[in-house]
Amino acid sequence: MTLPTTHVSFPAGAVTGESTVLAVHPLDGGRYAVVTGATPFHPLDHTWPDQPADLGTLTVDGVELAVVDCLTGAVGPEGSPDGGPDGGQVLVGADIPVRRGDEEWSWLVLHVLAADPGDIVGRTAALAVDAGRRGALSASHSGCHLLALALNEALAPRWRKDPGRTDAFGHPDFDSLAMASSVMDTEASTDTYRLGKSLRKKGFTAEATEEFPALADALPELTEAVNRRLAGWVAADARVRIDVPGPELTARREWHCELPEGAARIFCGGTHLHHLGELAELRTELRLSEDGSELVAVTRPKRA
Ligand SMILES: [Zn+2]
Repeated sequence: MTLPTTHVSFPAGAVTGESTVLAVHPLDGGRYAVVTGATPFHPLDHTWPDQPADLGTLTVDGVELAVVDCLTGAVGPEGSPDGGPDGGQVLVGADIPVRRGDEEWSWLVLHVLAADPGDIVGRTAALAVDAGRRGALSASHSGCHLLALALNEALAPRWRKDPGRTDAFGHPDFDSLAMASSVMDTEASTDTYRLGKSLRKKGFTAEATEEFPALADALPELTEAVNRRLAGWVAADARVRIDVPGPELTARREWHCELPEGAARIFCGGTHLHHLGELAELRTELRLSEDGSELVAVTRPKRA
């Protein structure tokens, strides 16, 4: 079975669309995956699963089917040893043996149904994403990127040397250098940073020096500085857009935000707000684990 890589409209903010059903694929647990040529649904990414799947409905011939999950699928080249037992099979999520975007593979958005939809291949499906949930996830995802920039700035004085990676504003990129995991939900983005030996080797200082207190003691002040910066950006109603080099699910997209300090950009496969004035407030809470090895930022957007 040869399927083309799915075209996606979620980067521009779409929540509805229409497309032909190309395949229906049985999944474990009696569930079924519907593949369409194009979709507004954002699937969970199998390589970096930060933003949860869109939910919603798929309507074929007047019958509305609930999309209970949305996953990334991939089909290897026919006859390839890692394309599944027979080659050319649809593999799902963690079973995909190659990294996102491998050009020999087709990359699919899988709309997961709880039951067999019957013979719908070749029919037109009307696709509708739960827009409220999407909006909340987009707010959390935009908040996540802004937190990264504000945290990098607040922690910049703690680098003894240039770690060799800076963000869009020229600050040492603590966010990407220390990132252990980043997870969004409809309420917040939770970013976990590892403050281990390798970060220290790169030049980061968590201990007290003559210039600043130990990270644990500086936390209230750092939190305040980050939140002041976030409030300023929300008040500036900065514009947000996603640069899309192509319509394919696997295109390398980039988040752009026109902040007062300049244009910020971060590679990103998720969905976002269109401008920061869609928020009434964005605040983060910084927590340090007792042994000081982990910094956790929980960033909550309040929508206007
Ligand atoms: Zn992102």
